[in-house]
Amino acid sequence: MATKLVGSGYQVVLINKNNYHQFQPLFYQVASSGIEPSSILFPLRKIFQKQKDVYIRVADVYSVDTEKKEISTSLDKVWYDYLVIATGVNSNFFGMKNMEKFANPMKSVSEAMALRNRILLNLESAVTLFDHDENEKKILLNVVVVGGGPTGVEVAGAIAEMKKFVLPKDYPDLNFDLMKINLIEGSGQVLNSMSDHASRKALYYLQRIGINVQLNTQVTDYDGETLSLADGNKIKSKLVIWAAGISGEVPLGIPTESIGRGKRLLVDEFNKVKGCGNIYSIGDVSLMSTPGNPNGHPQVAQVAIQQGANMARNFIAMHKNSKLKPFRYIDRGSMATIGRNRAVADLSFIKFSGFIAWLTWMFVHLMAILGVKNRLLIFVNWLWNYVTYDQSLRLILKAADSKKEEQPTPMDKVV
Ligand SMILES: Cc1cc2nc3c(=O)[nH]c(=O)nc-3n(C[C@H](O)[C@H](O)[C@H](O)COP(=O)(O)OP(=O)(O)OC[C@H]3O[C@@H](n4cnc5c(N)ncnc54)[C@H](O)[C@@H]3O)c2cc1C
Repeated sequence: MATKLVGSGYQVVLINKNNYHQFQPLFYQVASSGIEPSSILFPLRKIFQKQKDVYIRVADVYSVDTEKKEISTSLDKVWYDYLVIATGVNSNFFGMKNMEKFANPMKSVSEAMALRNRILLNLESAVTLFDHDENEKKILLNVVVVGGGPTGVEVAGAIAEMKKFVLPKDYPDLNFDLMKINLIEGSGQVLNSMSDHASRKALYYLQRIGINVQLNTQVTDYDGETLSLADGNKIKSKLVIWAAGISGEVPLGIPTESIGRGKRLLVDEFNKVKGCGNIYSIGDVSLMSTPGNPNGHPQVAQVAIQQGANMARNFIAMHKNSKLKPFRYIDRGSMATIGRNRAVADLSFIKFSGFIAWLTWMFVHLMAILGVKNRLLIFVNWLWNYVTYDQSLRLILKAADSKKEEQPTPMDKVV
């Protein structure tokens, strides 16, 4: 949206907690050591390098004062004439505090990196155990993915591929028959939001690559080692990946009447937040109820992109006192990939699966990535991976000790 407002007469202040845009659909490839994080990130300042009237502030937005038209951020206060909230979503653990504490979510590149580290650290721990510690090894190697939507299906598929093609070469002294990958889904099918054809095919592909899929299964607790299920069963695992729920990232100060199901902001067909003056909302965090989508549009990139474009058009129209255009979603279809050579695709005119769907998935995602260099990097990575079955990115990169960062520098001491 901000790019489309350049030169329109508006002064745009773009506030984001990170100084980069992240391409979320490929987080699972970062987590499974398939690509480097930098190839799916793009610096915001680079996008607007040559644009006047766009001001970037890297800050956390805490709250909005709708009366004073003011937002509080980690940097300072910002006043607005119009506010557009596009803060997306975060993981929803449905009140399971332990799950939040111990499971690994994948909603940001940092979380994808933490997951990559966890997978590799568990392997490093398992390889140091003696043969008679088989039970402990199994717990370290047992991977549980909770949630059978696109994220869960794709990450489970990628880890299964790692187990088959890469890990036995890196850890020749580990018995990978002990490693199990489980996918747990609360409903009766995986890829619930896609067609029956896609759901059935995805289940077939998952099982074919050795993933143990448990449908109609609810999780209730996880203490870091034991995952409890609603039916009373328990699964021992040191790695539970949480891909089961999301809720809107709504800043404080928004009246509760303006917040709907899934903690999303209730908007009208022009994306104006109900009962909030000049506040608008687009993308995952917004909920526009329409006859076709009474519970809001699907929380996917196409909706966010199309709403951003429509919103920018309407802002320009407002400036010229012209007629506003209500938002109408054009569904271009959805896709998910399940390991190497397999994907499912639901396009408006055709539903297909298999190798052609996988090639289509790769093409569509490659084209969607921001920046020619990133696109090239990912293409080369994928090609290399495809030919060699081995990507040498399995690095455990730990963040620096934060306490150390807080130590005064020698210069600080002098001053
Ligand atoms: C793992 C994963 C895989 C996905 N795969 C697909 C896919 O294959 N196809 C598809 O169509 N969609 C996919 N999606 C969904 C898609 O990424 C989202 O629909 C899309 O990114 C929504 O765009 P948005 O602008 O609403 O929010 P986001 O892209 O999430 O952007 C929100 C921005 O707001 C910032 N922010 C949040 N809170 C604050 C705050 N308080 N202060 C400052 N900044 C803040 C965040 O840092 C972020 O940069 C996937 C999502 C995930 C997590």
